[in-house]
Amino acid sequence: MITQAVIMAGGLGSRLGARTKEMPKGFLEIGGMPIVEQSVRKLIACGIEDIIIGTGHCKEYYEELAKKYPCIKLAHNKDYADTSSMGTLAVCVPLVKESALILESDLLYDSIGLNVLINEMRKDVILSSGKTGSGDEVYLQVDGDCNLVKHSKKKEDLESIYSELVGITKLTRSTLDLMVKYMNDHKADQPKMEYEVAMSAISSSCHKIGVRKVEYYTWCEIDDENHLKRAVEQIYPHILENESIRGIRREVLLNPGPATTTDSVKYAQVQADICPRENEFGDIMGWISKELSLFVGAPGRVETVLFGGSGTAGDEAMISSCVPQDGKLLIVDNGAYGKRMAKMAKIYGIDYDTFVSDGIHRIDVEALKKAIVDGKYTHMAIVYHETTTGILNPVPEICRFCHEHNVVTIVDAVSAFAAVPIDMDRDCIDFMSSTSNKNIQGMAGLAFVFCRKEALESIKDYPMRNYYLNIYDQHHYFIKNNQMRFTPPVQTAYALRQAILETKIETIEGRYARYTACWKVLVEAVKRIGLKMPVPESEHSHLIVTIMDPESPKYNFNDLHDFAREHGFTIYPGKLSDAPTFRIANIGDIRPEEMREFTVLLEQYMKTI
Ligand code: PLP
Ligand code: MG
Ligand code: MG
Repeated sequence: MITQAVIMAGGLGSRLGARTKEMPKGFLEIGGMPIVEQSVRKLIACGIEDIIIGTGHCKEYYEELAKKYPCIKLAHNKDYADTSSMGTLAVCVPLVKESALILESDLLYDSIGLNVLINEMRKDVILSSGKTGSGDEVYLQVDGDCNLVKHSKKKEDLESIYSELVGITKLTRSTLDLMVKYMNDHKADQPKMEYEVAMSAISSSCHKIGVRKVEYYTWCEIDDENHLKRAVEQIYPHILENESIRGIRREVLLNPGPATTTDSVKYAQVQADICPRENEFGDIMGWISKELSLFVGAPGRVETVLFGGSGTAGDEAMISSCVPQDGKLLIVDNGAYGKRMAKMAKIYGIDYDTFVSDGIHRIDVEALKKAIVDGKYTHMAIVYHETTTGILNPVPEICRFCHEHNVVTIVDAVSAFAAVPIDMDRDCIDFMSSTSNKNIQGMAGLAFVFCRKEALESIKDYPMRNYYLNIYDQHHYFIKNNQMRFTPPVQTAYALRQAILETKIETIEGRYARYTACWKVLVEAVKRIGLKMPVPESEHSHLIVTIMDPESPKYNFNDLHDFAREHGFTIYPGKLSDAPTFRIANIGDIRPEEMREFTVLLEQYMKTI
């Protein structure tokens, strides 16, 4: 899997005169965004996790960009004024692990070109196009196997012209090393070497570099005013059209998970077939597990154990794996999911009690602490965010108290993780569950159990009440074999990988702020319309709102559902057993403007009853 990209961005951009005197070319804005930022976003959407930018002229611009995108690493070419693109590429090469996409910074391109290279069987391959007539073309000559022989800006230098260089290439580290060596060997006679010179030299002598031609590829580079004009008037609109053609119909899910996903997460599922017992796939699962752990703990503090299954599988794994034979469990029940954990404990014959609280008011923490102080319980289980009503339980306070009293803590964070910032050490959470399709904004099919390191070791010899869902066995097997015990949902894992990349960029704090902005729009509208909310606003999680059914006899949830669905919004009925309600969740890839659109529909419907 290609996980790295290099953008060569050291150049002076002198042919653009005043425009780029005090700014790198990549920061030319088209459609309201610097072209290099558009490139960064396209790379991320294609699953690139590490973007190395080789800087030179006006590097401060890139330093600012790197603050916005934590996946950017900078490498500075001190000699940028006296070297050329190969000099800038050379300072980036030490950061490339196995293979990377190499891009010029002055490109405007259709992202499909990245997929073309990612899907190429050849490990070293140049993207090229048919005739552009752009001016400043770099023509390519190839051999019978479509490998690069020679390049030139002058047609007459070549025996035949196969295609035009785009400026996006896939190269392995070993090829890059050969190019750097070639540059160093020719420093004296060619101090200003373009990277394509090194590619041609390597490919025509010792190490073939393939050329992939896409005849009608939409792209351009921007070296001068004419290029810029063509970019704005022709290429940019064409790219927008291509990308909108590939867009997937927008359905906004306002049910509490599975949540709305980005198109890039949806597309990440489309991958070459792979046997999940291959090391390559094991590495992806290992990466997912490590990255999930880093969301909830310092490096090395948390192990994330993955299971094929929904969120309930995570809960059942915890309940069946984490309580010893002689343990006693206290389960906080203030909604459907606490009740579900109690049902599991009953089925497994675990000694347990419930601490029952209604789903509408904050749980009585003092009464719960009293039960914990009692000394009867070895373990306590609680739901972080009770999705039944949208109440956020005071989990850190309760879990810290449990720890002071030697009680192991088990937390269902299925609908809290990746929206609410959690630190398992700080918050004294020993075991915690979640799933791939809620706030992490991936697809359904993987359950996670986050375990504090010591907590995981402590359950090693506990009775194995369940075969498929045993946490220690699942963990141990994976560590030993770099494989899951049983067939994982392969495509869901790829989507989750993409969802993790996107969460790292938004950050969990940023995501909670976006969710809160959507919640605000919703709550303000609900109040304006005159609907009632059973849970006091101060107790709202900002992730889901429970709304009382209106009193009108003409109200029918199914009618409201169908009306909203016709307009691209999916809503969900309530889950309170004793009050007629419906719920609006605002988790997933949704924006406040979309929530506003929904509230207009809600208001329209309410006027009809
Ligand atoms: N726990 C909580 C708090 C939930 O919100 C949900 C689902 O909404 C679950 C558990 C069960 O998850 P799943 O439906 O993925 O099994
Ligand atoms: Mg050029
Ligand atoms: Mg150029």
